[in-house]
Amino acid sequence: MFSGIIWSTIQPTVSRGLEYTGDWITVKAMDETELIKSKVNIVDLISEYIPLKKAGVNFKAPCPFHNEKTPSFVVSPERQIFKCFGCQKSGDIFTFLMEKEGMDFKDALEMLAKKAGIVLKQTESKKDFKQRLFEVNLKAQEFFHYMLTKHPLGKNALEYLKSRGVTDESIESFGIGYAPNSWESLTKVLLKRNFTISEIIEVGLAVSSRNGGYDRFRGRITFPLIDSKDKLRGFSGRVLYLAEPKYINSPQTPIFDKSEYLFGINLAKAEIRAKKEAVLVEGEMDVIMSHQAGFRNVVASKGTALTEGQVNLIKKFTENLSLCFDMDIAGDSASRRGIEIAEKAGLNIKVIELTSGKDAAEVVKEDPGLWEKAVADAVPIYDYYLTSTAKRYDVKNPVDLKKIGMELIPIWAKIPDDLVRERYIQKLASFLRTDEKALRETIDKEKRFGQKSFTEVFHPKVGVDNIVSQRSRRELLEEYLIALLLHPPKDYIFVPTFLETLFLRETFRQIYVLLVLYLDSISFKSKAFSINDFSSDFPKDLLTEVDRLYLTELDDKLNSSKAWQKEVDGVTSELKKALIKASLERLALEIRNAQEFGKMEIVESLNKRFRDLSVKLKNL
Ligand SMILES: [Zn+2]
Repeated sequence: MFSGIIWSTIQPTVSRGLEYTGDWITVKAMDETELIKSKVNIVDLISEYIPLKKAGVNFKAPCPFHNEKTPSFVVSPERQIFKCFGCQKSGDIFTFLMEKEGMDFKDALEMLAKKAGIVLKQTESKKDFKQRLFEVNLKAQEFFHYMLTKHPLGKNALEYLKSRGVTDESIESFGIGYAPNSWESLTKVLLKRNFTISEIIEVGLAVSSRNGGYDRFRGRITFPLIDSKDKLRGFSGRVLYLAEPKYINSPQTPIFDKSEYLFGINLAKAEIRAKKEAVLVEGEMDVIMSHQAGFRNVVASKGTALTEGQVNLIKKFTENLSLCFDMDIAGDSASRRGIEIAEKAGLNIKVIELTSGKDAAEVVKEDPGLWEKAVADAVPIYDYYLTSTAKRYDVKNPVDLKKIGMELIPIWAKIPDDLVRERYIQKLASFLRTDEKALRETIDKEKRFGQKSFTEVFHPKVGVDNIVSQRSRRELLEEYLIALLLHPPKDYIFVPTFLETLFLRETFRQIYVLLVLYLDSISFKSKAFSINDFSSDFPKDLLTEVDRLYLTELDDKLNSSKAWQKEVDGVTSELKKALIKASLERLALEIRNAQEFGKMEIVESLNKRFRDLSVKLKNL
């Protein structure tokens, strides 16, 4: 009911009257899944596997998916879902069967249809199931590409691409498209082409909903994800406007696995072989812009750290890999783990550093020569580790020198080639101003005994890791606050007034705003809070989040409105404090930097901000 208000902040307008080549008939999305859901009670289904015990409005049991003594597996008859607070597994009757019996969606659908006494509409085609999924993708690709290049609805997207410098030629060679900003335009086209809603959902183009399914990619520029054998496995979609997440991908499907995929590999593989080098960048635009400028050995990992599947894919074409990422990969444990995998597989790794602070796409667009030089100047990974630590630590400080040693020694111990290792031991010794022989002994010892991975060896001490752990604590608090707000005490009228920016996570902000609107409307009509009423129009991804938080078990004493209000106030103020503390930490860092570079007037103004914030914190 609020969709018009809130979604508009995420995606401008829902387009209507969309036309597509050929005649256009409205096809009501097949609602077999919803029909089945209405006939099979989740409590009955799960009771066939494990004994459920009533707990308040829900049912509880020890989780069937992980080992535990105290039950944290909750089933909600009200929402017809389950959720384990131990292993985080959750879902509906379909997901339960898929997980429990190891079935795919199609098998679960058939089994549950039988239970519900429903005869499924058969797909006439006897073709292999996966083959059908590839065909759905191809049809979708045709639609997206048509929308971008020929249809008025794609005009803004096309203009955006042109403004980023993407040529018509690239649009063709990469098959770039546009998904109209409407809930069902693609799904309807595909249904009309005799694909079933379960095929469309299974391949990730639609997300299942109470009406069948709605388009996953809406209002986004689409990039077909084509593998090295030219098979179209999935899509990624990029927003046109400032919004998060910037990119979404097809989920894991029977024909797509993100961890084994590299964007652009179909167009880059020949050049990677010829140049005996692959360049790995972050995103789709980086790949497209470099190919356009004539650098065709470039592929993208799409924002993830390197995986074994990706490493094996690269190894089919070359042994030499250069990485170009926005972030400092030496300071990021997931990246280091990826590099470790690549090293073990025998890849020679270098790092391309873009000193301008711009990403690869921007550098190539502005000056292809600069990009070429940066690629040529790529430094071997171990030199990169050295310079990265030098940036993050103070090499004049003996305590920091020790930390650098702790960070680099386990990495050095794993250098597979003896000669290379020896050379870098010498480098590290002079860098740390320490005795080479002693360092070699330490590294040998680490080599013999330290079989642990980087992540185990590193205790979060510095920068990046620390922020991550703080953020997760913060997320827990944010989650708890939403959970509280979803359980207002009976007969208690309350509409929260703090700003949604108190939540760092976009999903929480969305839920919070919807909740405020809803609470406001029921307080006005003096209606009681109802979770089904509140979430009736939610898209699936948001609903999953709401369900998870709604099923969070809260302390019984929070049934009292006084205790509840006190709890809400407490959490809110802690979140506010945490925000200010984070700002203070950032400021402290900036002040130190400014001092080091002797920028006294900046130090002054930063100091003032620091004092103001400190006062604000004290007064909270
Ligand atoms: Zn579990």
